[in-house]
Amino acid sequence: MAYTPKRKKETKWWEDGIRFECQGSGNCCQSRGAYGYVYLTDEDCIRMADHFEISLKEFKQKFCKKVDGQYCLREDNDHEGNDCRFLSGARCTVYAARPVQCRTWPFWPENMNPKAWRKEVVAFCPGVGKGKKISSEKIRAQLNLMSD
Ligand code: SF4
Repeated sequence: MAYTPKRKKETKWWEDGIRFECQGSGNCCQSRGAYGYVYLTDEDCIRMADHFEISLKEFKQKFCKKVDGQYCLREDNDHEGNDCRFLSGARCTVYAARPVQCRTWPFWPENMNPKAWRKEVVAFCPGVGKGKKISSEKIRAQLNLMSD
């Protein structure tokens, strides 16, 4: 019989949970490098079109562009700097209807390795280490939303 090495169950560094609570800095709403786009799912587009009480078609024409075949928010040339067009001061003006990408920050698949977490999240987002611990189950649920 051939020897099959047993696979060790992979333990994530965040298995014990992570303390995180949004501090309302608006930092995650500013465009920077690879984090420059707010991608939209089909459900995001429908929810946001409803929010503005316009048709889906109109919403896409007015606010969206396609990058790599996926819809994302189009920049507003009249808006200051590289901020999301819906950011006003440090406040999201479409908060109740905001996209899944915004709801799940900072628990994005690309952030969940120690190096990216330190560089892209800890160094940049004041919510890390604040508030209650978010359990690994909740983190996984967020990650799943971003992987759909
Ligand atoms: S939609 Fe709202 S939460 Fe999302 S990036 Fe824009 S301002 Fe921030």
